[in-house]
Amino acid sequence: MATILDGNRIASEIKEEIAVGIKQLAKEGIRPGLAAVLTGNDPASEVYVRSKVRACEELGIYSEKITPADCISTDEMLTVIARLNEREDIDGILVQLPLPPQIDAKRVLLGVLPQKDVDGFHPLNVGNLSTQRPGLTPCTPAGIIEILKRSEIEIAGRSAVVLGRSDIVGKPIAMMLLNQNATVTVCHSRTVDLPAYTRTADILVAAIGKAALVTPEMVKPGATVIDVGINRVMDKKRIEEFFPNDSKRLDQFAAKGSTLVGDVHPRVAEVAGAITPVPGGVGPLTIAMLMSNTVKAARMRRGLA
Ligand code: NAD
Repeated sequence: MATILDGNRIASEIKEEIAVGIKQLAKEGIRPGLAAVLTGNDPASEVYVRSKVRACEELGIYSEKITPADCISTDEMLTVIARLNEREDIDGILVQLPLPPQIDAKRVLLGVLPQKDVDGFHPLNVGNLSTQRPGLTPCTPAGIIEILKRSEIEIAGRSAVVLGRSDIVGKPIAMMLLNQNATVTVCHSRTVDLPAYTRTADILVAAIGKAALVTPEMVKPGATVIDVGINRVMDKKRIEEFFPNDSKRLDQFAAKGSTLVGDVHPRVAEVAGAITPVPGGVGPLTIAMLMSNTVKAARMRRGLA
């Protein structure tokens, strides 16, 4: 059976290190600040923003939740962002995605000052990542690299296959693995014969958004499997097929009527060498890296190393 890569444990370790950095800044009279802009009424987004604000409170980072009306226009949203760009007490601005359909998300993300872009989505930061310059990098991919490094999983020289090519996960994790000297293949919805690629992976990252799409036959024995997917499954039959002997999970499903499943089938743990669970794998790292980026942004903006 695969080693379980415990994201909660690694995230706690990182948060302890961040807390030390925050204390050092406090001695210089600096308190990092994060603004989270939440619009629309996506329940998952509300949960994510709540978790992010709570993480700030735990660490002593100032946080502010801004909730513009759902009907806000792109120009009005840009005005909200521009005000945050100017504020001295705000080091990081996060615009929770998805945005309501009337908003041009690309224009809004371009409006965030690159120095305050703690999600690492601004084209300047994307360029910094791809040309290996210092900058702010997207949180989920950065968290995946932390999981691999802190679990002493070799990246250089190994074959890494990324499933998914989104700007948020797939593309940036592919770039980060490349920067760490892996040989990287990116697969996506139009890839023909996905298993032919996945079976070559020493490191397989699944960021697709389709429950249990990656099955044991698709995985090279001993591979490290990073499951980014978060899929809420409500079909009892599927849950019984995914977790036939997991009474805790089945009880949880019976109580709630749904459970979270990754993009990787739970039986992949029988083949892989190491695997991240869902929940409790990549998710906690995303928040830890957001905190880390906020502190980094606070230091960089003041010219501190
Ligand atoms: P997305 O919908 O933007 O992108 C999905 C990608 O998967 C696309 O590039 C598409 O080409 C590819 N894809 C779709 N079907 C495929 C198939 N059959 N074979 C191969 N590739 C296929 O999604 P995203 O924002 O990158 O998120 C992916 C998943 O990761 C979602 O479940 C999301 O909830 C989750 N996620 C988790 C975290 C976290 O913190 N754990 C953070 C971000 C996203």
